This record gives sequence, structure tokens and C-alpha cells, in this order.
Amino acid sequence: MPSQTLFDDADHKNILLEDFTIGLMVQSNQHVIMHKDKAMLLDPGGHKVYPNALGELSSLMPTNSLTYLFFSHQDPDVIAAANAWLMVTEAQALLPQVWTRFLMHFGVDDMMAHRITAIPDDGMIVDLAGCELLIIPAHFLHSPGNFQVYDPVSKILYSGDLGASLGVNYTVVPDFDAHIPCMENFHRRYMASRGMLRAWARMVKQLDIEMIAPQHGAVFATKEHVGRLIEWLEHLSCGINLIGKKYKLPVKK
Ligand code: FE
Repeated sequence: MPSQTLFDDADHKNILLEDFTIGLMVQSNQHVIMHKDKAMLLDPGGHKVYPNALGELSSLMPTNSLTYLFFSHQDPDVIAAANAWLMVTEAQALLPQVWTRFLMHFGVDDMMAHRITAIPDDGMIVDLAGCELLIIPAHFLHSPGNFQVYDPVSKILYSGDLGASLGVNYTVVPDFDAHIPCMENFHRRYMASRGMLRAWARMVKQLDIEMIAPQHGAVFATKEHVGRLIEWLEHLSCGINLIGKKYKLPVKK
């Protein structure tokens, strides 16, 4: 799919970059929040996505306008190309505090240490040219150090792996019930527990959300679908609720 504009106001744009994932790699979305002359790139992705995502970003704005690289968690589809992004931009990397020392294994050397901001476990507020973005905790959903971004101008919640779908050929969810099978197996296996989902749901219900934009698959673009997704997640059995007590030693077949 080509790049999609999710929100466009005079000073503020939210762009979903063209899908550059190929072959067997899991499909992933790269999102950009632009405010005035500054921008944040969310979950930039791995090495094969990097050159095309950089090209696309350059067509939208000068790369030195990129102020922040946001890494929601440590997975390769989020962070593998971190070093390349740090080398070609002047952006500050925002990364969950628990993962900062692991980032160095992707080739980031000590010289870059001052370009990395560790997001504390409670989250933080980030200033993007006067727009205050909320970096909110979503730990164990799925990663133990995991954050989401709420943009108060577009009212988009960037939910990372929560609400992710696999194998869909549409950008915006057309029918919530028909979409559930594309999310279900992933959430049941990857999300840590129903308790964490409930804690997350309680928190995000305090936000005015127009759209939820995950890191994989389609976005939820109506208030009704946003509400249904939060409700579905709030009541989902997953992770330790399903498999936590079922460990067995393997037997030879
Ligand atoms: Fe992940």
C-alpha cells in the first residue's frame, strides 16, 4: 500500500509510511508524527525496511527535521536498524529504560550514548515543537519494557503490538467482528496476562482516542472500533492465563 495520511491539519500530520516489508518477514507499520517543523518516527523497523523507509521519509521532510526515533520495545522489527537511523539523522532515540543496554548489540557504540533517552517505567511526556506527546506504559503487552504513544492533536493512540493483526489486505478495519480472527492467535500467545490488559484498558479509557494505530496490520479508525478493541482486549484470556500452568517436559515421538 502507498503511504497513508491518517490525520492532516495545518501544522500537524500523521503519516503511515508505505509498507516496505517483503518476503517472510512479519508485516510492520512505520508511523510518522509531524508537528510544525519537527517529527517523530515510530518503530522504524529492520534493515530491509530501512532504505525504503528513509527514502519515503526524505520525500516528506528533510531528515534533519526528525527529532525523535521512538522504539516501543526491543523486537527486531522495531529496533534492528537503530544504528543506521542514528547515523543518518540527528534524532534522539527514545527507548524503554530496561532495553537501553541491549540496543548496543545492534552496533550502536558508546559515541551514540548521548543520543539515547531511556524512557522510565512510568512513561514521560515528550515535546515535539510544542506538541506534548504522551509516552504511556504498556509493559508486558507484550514486552516487559513496552510503551505506546498518544498524540493529543490527532487523538491517535499508537499501540505497538496491541491491536496488531496479521494477514490483512486492508489498511483500515472495515468490520470489527470479521477482523477478530486476524488478531486472536497473536494476542493469546504474545500478551502476558489478562491482568495487564485490564490495567492498560483502565488507563487508556481516560484518553480521548479517535484512532488506534498498531505496529502490524490495519488501523481502527472510528470511535466505535476504538471502543470495541479496548473492550475486546480487556476481556481476552491470554499468556499465563492460558499456558502458564501447563508446562510439560517434552517426550520423544
Ligand atoms: Fe513485538
